[in-house]
Amino acid sequence: RLAPSVVAMVRASVERHPDVEAVVEVGGERVTYAELWERAARVAGGLVADGITRGDRVASLLPAGLDWVVGFLGTLLAGAVAVPVNTRFAAPEIEHVLTDSGAAAVLRAGSPLPEGNPEALEDLVPGDLAAIFYTSGTTGRPKGARTTHGNFLSNVETAIRVIGIDRAAGPTLRNLVSVPLFHVTGCNSQLLVQLGLGGTTVVLPTFQADAFVRTIVEERIDTLVSVPAIYGLTLARDDLDVDLSGIRRATYGGAPMAPDLVRRLQERLPQARLGNGFGLTETSSISTFLPHEWAVQHADSVGFAAPVVDLALTDVDDAGVGELLIRGPNVVDGYWEAPEATARTFVDGWLHSGDLARVDDGLVRVVDRAKDVINRGGENVYSVEVENALAGAPGVADAAVVGVPDDIMGEKVGAVLVGGSVDVDAVLAYLDTQLADFKVPQYVVVTTDPLPRNPGGKLLKRTLRDGTDWGRPVRGR
Ligand code: ATP
Repeated sequence: RLAPSVVAMVRASVERHPDVEAVVEVGGERVTYAELWERAARVAGGLVADGITRGDRVASLLPAGLDWVVGFLGTLLAGAVAVPVNTRFAAPEIEHVLTDSGAAAVLRAGSPLPEGNPEALEDLVPGDLAAIFYTSGTTGRPKGARTTHGNFLSNVETAIRVIGIDRAAGPTLRNLVSVPLFHVTGCNSQLLVQLGLGGTTVVLPTFQADAFVRTIVEERIDTLVSVPAIYGLTLARDDLDVDLSGIRRATYGGAPMAPDLVRRLQERLPQARLGNGFGLTETSSISTFLPHEWAVQHADSVGFAAPVVDLALTDVDDAGVGELLIRGPNVVDGYWEAPEATARTFVDGWLHSGDLARVDDGLVRVVDRAKDVINRGGENVYSVEVENALAGAPGVADAAVVGVPDDIMGEKVGAVLVGGSVDVDAVLAYLDTQLADFKVPQYVVVTTDPLPRNPGGKLLKRTLRDGTDWGRPVRGR
């Protein structure tokens, strides 16, 4: 039976396994479920003593770590609404989130957490608002997704089912969180899933490749959920010489994972069950999932609709590509105090994802974000398809593909390649064997700098479109 709220869900784990480690901060403290509950309840008491009441927003500017978790849970125990702030935001962006959400209190690094007599509101119901998650702002100004307790719980159930986790084994699970907790992948599909199962969440405060690998071994990690960029920088590396045999599950999502990277990951982790989860902030994380059995063979796909999710396509073109619509108990009901954006995005109960997809026999292929499709003289080029091909090109460590404005064609295809010794002719010759000629980039820039990504691992294509000096075309046409 589903718990009525996140508070009730965590309470059940505390009662079942009070002495199991709940949260471990790498380089910091470790607490059991009983201790986590006690600390969170004191924070709730402190908030209530400060005048916070049900439904008030409490923003968190805390860095990833134990205090973040205690602050988040304490906020929910007070019946308040958590507003996890992206700590990488610049001052005006933070200001926007604090003002937009109308935060009545802000938890900040360097200040002690609120402290009072333990409180825990246990009468919350699934429809109660639990958090406002701001979208990453990859495509525009961040919008606050109104996430209820029911939305959270629906995603926890989905994650457990699609990943195929044995609930009885819950308290033995050890999950390393290397992505931000202020986005849904880290918070909903890792922290909350573990809190529901009674497992252990090990938090790496800032991602750093060596620390990530070391922590897997030292903390006996068996479950990884991360973004493609992190797998690319760590486990897929050729020079890795550590025992990774303890990893039983490695799932990825949040951004397109190149099929070549999936193959390398499976080679490196032959014993692990892989899986690709697709979702948005607005779907409280997982909407579709590609299970292990299909992960390598259908690596160009994000799998099937999650058990409780309905999918549809709209404005379908001749190739069967349309915008993906999503409906289900994990989908939020709108954006915080943004009726126009809500009306545009949530239509007749369906979330308009902004992703273009094809569905073949239930298998979903996200071809690109609508805003990233390159229109080359009327021919659609999906940037993700070109990036996936580049992932297998000689000497290319990372790649991004965007449209370059062109007087005649409207847009041409531009690629930014990362690598110390990239031979552009060799890369183009390789692409000629993989892609139709109109998809092969006409502009190529090679750099040794990392590509601009947000902390959720998403390429910041706006930055590349605005800031790249493309020079002369490498190919005519
Ligand atoms: P904003 O709306 O402010 O621009 P955002 O859409 O980048 O923010 P998120 O909700 O974090 O914010 O990102 C959701 C998007 O991430 C999806 O629409 C999709 O494009 C991409 N995505 C998520 N998971 C996957 C996946 N497994 N494969 C491919 N793309 C994915």
